[in-house]
Amino acid sequence: MSQSIPPKPGVETLAVHAGGAPDPHTGARQTPIYQTTSYVFEDADHAASLFNLQLPGFIYSRLTNPTVAVLEERVAALEGGRGGTATASGHAAQILALFPLMGPGDEVVAANKLYGGSLNQMGHSYKKFGWKAIFVDPDDPANFANAVTDRTKAIFIESLANPGGIVVDIAAVAEVAKQAGIPLLVDNTMATPYLCKPIEHGADIVIHSTTKFLSGNGTAVGGMVVDSGTFDWFQNDKFPSLSQPAPEYHGLTFAETFGDTAFTIYGHAIGLRDLGACQSPMNAWLTLLGIETLPLRMDRHCANAMAVAQFLQEHPAVSWVSYAGLDSDPYHALQQRYMPGGAGSVFTFGVTGGYETGVRMVEAVELFSHLANIGDTRSLIIHPASTTHRQLSEEQQIACGAGPDVIRLSIGIETIDDIIRDLDQALKSAAAANAAE
Ligand SMILES: *Cc1c(COP(=O)(O)O)cnc(C)c1O
Repeated sequence: MSQSIPPKPGVETLAVHAGGAPDPHTGARQTPIYQTTSYVFEDADHAASLFNLQLPGFIYSRLTNPTVAVLEERVAALEGGRGGTATASGHAAQILALFPLMGPGDEVVAANKLYGGSLNQMGHSYKKFGWKAIFVDPDDPANFANAVTDRTKAIFIESLANPGGIVVDIAAVAEVAKQAGIPLLVDNTMATPYLCKPIEHGADIVIHSTTKFLSGNGTAVGGMVVDSGTFDWFQNDKFPSLSQPAPEYHGLTFAETFGDTAFTIYGHAIGLRDLGACQSPMNAWLTLLGIETLPLRMDRHCANAMAVAQFLQEHPAVSWVSYAGLDSDPYHALQQRYMPGGAGSVFTFGVTGGYETGVRMVEAVELFSHLANIGDTRSLIIHPASTTHRQLSEEQQIACGAGPDVIRLSIGIETIDDIIRDLDQALKSAAAANAAE
């Protein structure tokens, strides 16, 4: 029943094997779904050691679960990180990642080009925790340095920003974070670790909405926090949650007791324990299954997206295309540096007729699904200004690449000719309806 991963495995090998050995009790080769809330203690001493964090093991599935643990190990391995904490959703992952770092009055400096939901979460709900988000344009890394204050505890960016196909200079922003003695958090949802590994470029913590390309089939909402294990929590007095004794665990100091796994263990022992946003075993299993084919899917996603971007660039009903894979794109050089294997499959373009044409186009597609998700095997389309970004003001919409004429595509893995045919007929029919008015 022995099974081992070769030394220095490639990404395709990790995607299939990392974290997942045959089940020691049954030999089951696929990871079992441990659909259980709790775990029997061997005796009272065993229980006490688990509760004291002296022994690794399972107590209750809000904290840890064997199926979820395989997912945590697999994504951490893919990212080149030390450990992972799976969460109920990508948004839960963002809160869980900031929770050990922030206290009332503290600040996070975030890119203003982010997933619309993240702008809402940070711009509005964080205030209820006393946290303050300061948004800056990530195109110039100096903007982050200028916004950092004594109260700044983290910098937050997306490697490949949703929805606009924007690539951030990760290494330059990492340098700003390093100078300030604070961690850089990178949401790597759109690029995935197959295309981009932020930790190799200086990121300290990587965040995922596993809902998207990692699960890949549009089946399971989930999130992940991966810690690099390299941030020194004792370098200053900014992070007492990790560098000072924790009263609820008999005064143990996480960073001292757990070293490079401190952030990950805090994420379970306090983060998931108290915030409760754990991932279900079933969702973890669906996501593991998805990750097995991540490299194959991403290659097809990227090739199809490139072909669609080139097609749209030539289309008379299209005014612009923002896809970092195109030679002419302003982010192409950064894409070549940070994600040379492909620019992902989510990008935006502008329709010549503006808001009305955008709405008509999403109603005219047949193969594409009009819905609020990305990273599915199926091709997806949305008009952000009338849906995902409608809570934002028009200025905010434009600032984050979701103005009235913008259509966002998430190109699937179907036959490329079918994808292009559908977009062409939808663009023509939207333009004809406009002309008829
Ligand atoms: C979807 C998404 C999120 C939020 O994730 P959920 O799983 O929907 O909570 C965060 N960041 C990015 C880039 C996303 O695409």
